Amino acid sequence: MSDARLFAVKMRAARAGEHISGAERIVPAHDIPALAAALAERALRHAKGVPDEIHLKVEEAGEIVHLEALPVSTHVTQTPAEGRAVAARLLAGAGITRIDEIMARFSETYGMRGAMLLDADTLERLEPDRARGVRATYMDAAGNGNGQDARCPRGDARKKNHFAEAVVLATKVANAPGIVGEICVSDDPDYVTGYVATKEIGYCRITTIKEKGDPCGGRIFLYRGPREGVAETIEYLQKQCVLVDNAPTSAPRQTVAASSDPPPGRSGVSPLLDEALAGDLREADSQGLLRMCRERPADILSFASNDYQNLAEDPRLKAAACAAIQRHGAGSGASRLVTGTLPEHVRLERHLASFKGTEDAVVWATGYMANVGTISALVGKGDAVFSDALNHASIIDGCRLSRADVFVYRHGDMDDLVRQLDAAGPRRRKLVVSDAVFSMDGDLLDLPAFLEVCRRAGAVSMIDEAHATGVVGATGRGLTEHFDCKPDIILGTLSKALGSEGGFVCASRTACDYLRNKSRSFIFSTAPGPGAMAAADTALSVLEAEPGRASALRAKAARFAAALNEAGVACATQSAIVPIPVGDERTACAVSAALEREGVLIPAIRYPTVARGAARLRAAVDIGKSDADLRRAAALLSAALRMPS
Ligand SMILES: *Cc1c(COP(=O)(O)O)cnc(C)c1O
Repeated sequence: MSDARLFAVKMRAARAGEHISGAERIVPAHDIPALAAALAERALRHAKGVPDEIHLKVEEAGEIVHLEALPVSTHVTQTPAEGRAVAARLLAGAGITRIDEIMARFSETYGMRGAMLLDADTLERLEPDRARGVRATYMDAAGNGNGQDARCPRGDARKKNHFAEAVVLATKVANAPGIVGEICVSDDPDYVTGYVATKEIGYCRITTIKEKGDPCGGRIFLYRGPREGVAETIEYLQKQCVLVDNAPTSAPRQTVAASSDPPPGRSGVSPLLDEALAGDLREADSQGLLRMCRERPADILSFASNDYQNLAEDPRLKAAACAAIQRHGAGSGASRLVTGTLPEHVRLERHLASFKGTEDAVVWATGYMANVGTISALVGKGDAVFSDALNHASIIDGCRLSRADVFVYRHGDMDDLVRQLDAAGPRRRKLVVSDAVFSMDGDLLDLPAFLEVCRRAGAVSMIDEAHATGVVGATGRGLTEHFDCKPDIILGTLSKALGSEGGFVCASRTACDYLRNKSRSFIFSTAPGPGAMAAADTALSVLEAEPGRASALRAKAARFAAALNEAGVACATQSAIVPIPVGDERTACAVSAALEREGVLIPAIRYPTVARGAARLRAAVDIGKSDADLRRAAALLSAALRMPS
């Protein structure tokens, strides 16, 4: 693939002569038709309106220069003044000192399509066409199918990944002959984040660099050198084809001190704390580990939902939730032991107990709270808790909070569990906890063997049926139904296949009464709202009335795995989760990104969630997927896996 001829593809859309949107890519010939279609779609769907002209230009790329993406960092600032001070400090390293005067020039760049080219020292304008400015073009992230290593491609061509495109551009600019720095401020009045970049400091995002509502913005390239060199710089910026390696996939995930924060002086956070927090965020950012809440994309075939039975959007659940809210309110108003217990809680707890075949049940506001509150109530200082190495984070947190001694046994390894139970010696109480269906690989706990080990050791047994309820067992009652045996404590969530929110424990009456008295996350937290309770209650009724749903769901997951097997991809499933082993982290990311470009979402799971070199894709199948969806996703996935990375 590396010898494929590459083409530069540019799209520009305008209306009545006014620029609406634009994009460019460098791709091999065989990608041109699909890319052209995607770019045209993007042009037609732009928020600024429908264009009356769309220009597509395709030309064979000349000689290609490869550049490593600038390292990215985020500097969290609260005010434009603070942002400018950070910019000044960062650029001082490149000997650029007149930052306030340079920033003032953004009043002249407004409306320019290109950048202003300024002498970094005299601040003289150097661009020959002042109305247009200098345009940096002919660049792309390596990995967009252009024959390069594809760690972090840029996603769906129909959508713009502003951040990746900005880093690609900044990388090209920073490497241009004579350029010593760049400052970019958006001309969107509502977007106050900008960046400064140089080859030395990298791409430094500054979260607040201008006042909200200020329409001034643009790009300023800073040049240092003889006037005769300017033409060469402009030639490089406007003509040289550049592919940027390791461009980031998405914007660094910014979590605090965003542009909507209160103005200075009224902020509740001290500058010292902010500085410390911002430092930690930068550290995470520099390792590519900063996270962000992305709004759910609407038009994607998603294999990433926990709503396995599509009950969250079921009209029966929605109607039940609305009716309960009408009757008892949007919130429950108090904790369960005060005045927060409503008929919806009592009814749901009874229903859960009968659904799982136990004497009683208790509900919490979330599954996380159920785990934390149950484990910490059952064991304490001097006790021992035994936890599978691949258990969910809420189990891990419950173990820690309990202050019991924690023994982690190898995943699914009952011999190791026995050894650790022995090694712990005699204790007041031993508790063994395991996921029923493990959330990453969807594999099942061998419940009979697990219970036998617990029985012999005199240990309390507990399983977490978060991914099992509504999925596993002949009628979806979970692992206990699948194996026809029960542990002491069955824990679960209302938020996955049951399509609502909340967590629960099903157990003996005594154990449930104990938890209502001792579980701190039950006692010291407001009772979950009646809407969520009524919805979950209805979900159980739906599963009872339509007992074939769980096996139908598993059959879909099995058909997906079979389609992959037929295409030569090894994988297997026992639940709704289909893990596709890949191994190499970069390959897993590249395959996931290639699928996303095709409108299919199958997340890559990497270290530290799984071991290094054991990266995989994790597909969660839901009952709404048609056979055509499953076949399409399997075909795309196997094709993407065959692609050299
Ligand atoms: C999702 C999950 C939880 C947490 O449940 P929430 O209701 O989302 O808080 C607990 N345990 C496991 C195994 C899970 O997968």
